[in-house]
Amino acid sequence: EKLGIALVGLGNYATHQLAPAILETKHCYLAGIVTGTEAKEAVWMSKYNIKKENVYNYDNFDSIKDNPEIDIIYVVLPNSMHAEFTIRAAKAGKHVICEKPMATSVADCKKMNAACKAANKKLSIGYRLHFDPFNDQMMRLGQNKVYGNRMDINTDFSFTLNDPNSWRTKKKFAGGGPLMDLGIYCLQGCIYTFGELPTELRAKASTKNSALFKDVEGTMEWEMTFPSGKANCKTSYETPFASYLTAKTEKGTLELNPSFNYDGLSGSTPDGPMQVQNVNQQALQIDAFALNVLNDTNTIVSGEMGLRDLYLIEKIQESAAQNGKLIQLNDVPNYLDLR
Ligand code: NAD
Repeated sequence: EKLGIALVGLGNYATHQLAPAILETKHCYLAGIVTGTEAKEAVWMSKYNIKKENVYNYDNFDSIKDNPEIDIIYVVLPNSMHAEFTIRAAKAGKHVICEKPMATSVADCKKMNAACKAANKKLSIGYRLHFDPFNDQMMRLGQNKVYGNRMDINTDFSFTLNDPNSWRTKKKFAGGGPLMDLGIYCLQGCIYTFGELPTELRAKASTKNSALFKDVEGTMEWEMTFPSGKANCKTSYETPFASYLTAKTEKGTLELNPSFNYDGLSGSTPDGPMQVQNVNQQALQIDAFALNVLNDTNTIVSGEMGLRDLYLIEKIQESAAQNGKLIQLNDVPNYLDLR
């Protein structure tokens, strides 16, 4: 038996990554779509063999509760819309996958977790790299201190964003700049490589192109202290493409470069190249959640993990707003993916 998924928001990621990935899953099929653009309906119906009665718009979305063919709703909208549609999906009695960042505030994350709990439905976040073998190697080697007890991490995820109309440049939709969108991968990478929560941080925001980035930061740089070492992180919409995470250990360097891409990842250890293969990350991520639903098990990329990351993002934004003030992290939601 395959579970039916409905994608909500048929933008770039849904069109070019998620829908093709669903075709590669073992336990799911693309049963429905939710879109505000009528012109997309016929195209998607014919491409993915979707029934007319499984096509919804944002107004009639709540009636999806009466559709037994939809088991899982996958929210792929601009960040600020994640909370509303996750809560509506849970109220419609559906399990939910919500894209990263889970929401644009801790307060919204709490409401989303509560709504899914009240409906007795599962919620996971689109953290695809927890299903990638290269990042898995990094987690195993770092967390198990294979190359020593101390590590210092450097990581950057950046690209140049030139589109002034993109929702990514508007705080109302994005909730922040590259930190929300790309920096969240650096934050995650540090936490899962240490297998620890940070104890303090300081951050600095900057902007070169103030015409394009009036509303959100163009660049965010931050430092975090962990029990086993330090991390220096950068994310930007104003610098050339970068995607890496390096950990200097007592016995040499662990490196993923590129680290956060969909494909073509590469990794090395002091003992040579990592001997793992690239996979379809999204297909594995979606199948893992389908198995959580079918077997009533817990997802490794939960709403609690999503909330943890928004908690830290808010602290980074708070430090940046106060010119790099050092912030002690005393009550970070204690959620880790340990290998
Ligand atoms: P996109 O702009 O290509 O798509 C957004 C979709 O939302 C579009 O179909 C648009 O029509 C729709 N939409 C509905 N209401 C809107 C509104 N008021 N303003 C703007 N668009 C509106 O964006 P995307 O790159 O597909 O990103 C969507 C989500 O997926 C984001 O939360 C992003 O962080 C996440 N994402 C995750 C990954 C990943 O690797 N996990 C990769 C890309 C994007």
